[in-house]
Amino acid sequence: MNHYTCPTCNHKVIVFDRLAAPYRPFCSRRCQLLDLAKWFNEEYRIETAPTPPDFTSANGTAFPDYSAFCTSSDPQVESDA
Ligand SMILES: [Zn+2]
Repeated sequence: MNHYTCPTCNHKVIVFDRLAAPYRPFCSRRCQLLDLAKWFNEEYRIETAPTPPDFTSANGTAFPDYSAFCTSSDPQVESDA
């Protein structure tokens, strides 16, 4: 018999069989997902703090300038079809 403490909710989990604790070191799938979400949030925050150069186009807008890929500047030009 073994036991461990869930790092998410500090719940003490007692395991009779190592294979009987699929969510170890968490007590449940919920706590496992909560911990994952926490890590993803931390990562997201770190990566978005500095502005990535790829997301800033030459004209200073937050999105890349796609006008160069547009063959038609007037979307209404095909409305007579
Ligand atoms: Zn837990």
